[in-house]
Amino acid sequence: MRLSSLFFTFGIVLSPVVAAQQHVHDQGQLLISQEGSNWHLEFILPAVNVFGFEHRPETKSQIQAVELFRDLLNFPSHIVSLGQKCKSTVISEQLSSLLSNKRLTTDEHEHEHEHEHEHEKSKVESHQDVKFGYEFKCHNQIENIQVELFPHLKNLRSLAVMWITETSQGATELTPEIYKFEIK
Ligand SMILES: [Zn+2]
Repeated sequence: MRLSSLFFTFGIVLSPVVAAQQHVHDQGQLLISQEGSNWHLEFILPAVNVFGFEHRPETKSQIQAVELFRDLLNFPSHIVSLGQKCKSTVISEQLSSLLSNKRLTTDEHEHEHEHEHEHEKSKVESHQDVKFGYEFKCHNQIENIQVELFPHLKNLRSLAVMWITETSQGATELTPEIYKFEIK
């Protein structure tokens, strides 16, 4: 994988979870779609399983955790493998602005001195997902996809995978033990 061939697109901040979205700690999602030789993969993970927290990084070690993960994303082969005839062309992630923006869209840290039940409420509202995606160009039929990400995450127990290709659609669930699946 040649890094020089990659184009980086930097998006907005972490997405606060809205009611319609699924957000279950230790469970992530991988959405895959195919258009000709182009494959798009999008990961959606609870931030707690990526960084160990679900708010803007504040301490030095929290900032470091975000930076380390952002650096990891620049190596697609450490995240997911579609086979040797596929080349990653685009990486999209939403972490860079997390490190530079002054304020979040949510206000999870404004309740620290209030009563316990209100603090609980603010914790519920502060759930965050981490989203990032890859585009791959593949010159052969894809038969297997292998997710290499599990060892880099904290306690992610399952990854719900859904795919739509030109010939099929399907779903499966991956775990740290079973992280490869057939796509046909
Ligand atoms: Zn959460």
